[in-house]
Amino acid sequence: MSEDADVQKIETRNQLVAALEDEWDEQFEKAEAKYIEAGGVECLYCGSSAGLEGGSIDIEFGEAHQEITCSECGRDWVDSYKLVGVIE
Ligand SMILES: [Zn+2]
Repeated sequence: MSEDADVQKIETRNQLVAALEDEWDEQFEKAEAKYIEAGGVECLYCGSSAGLEGGSIDIEFGEAHQEITCSECGRDWVDSYKLVGVIE
């Protein structure tokens, strides 16, 4: 195989990888929007509400983070919260 054909092959592969990454980002953004709209009560990946478990909450400078795991599909992620108000 010529060097040109190899370069062509690599470029084609890189384009495919980039297209898959774009597709994945789009899918993830849709799932994230749905998850937030539901109030974080259904798994980001499998949609189950039965297996969600939250870890400890870390709060720092108006932001909070909590690791969430889903025992139904085994995936985990971090919920991110922002300060939206105060209670007098
Ligand atoms: Zn799940």
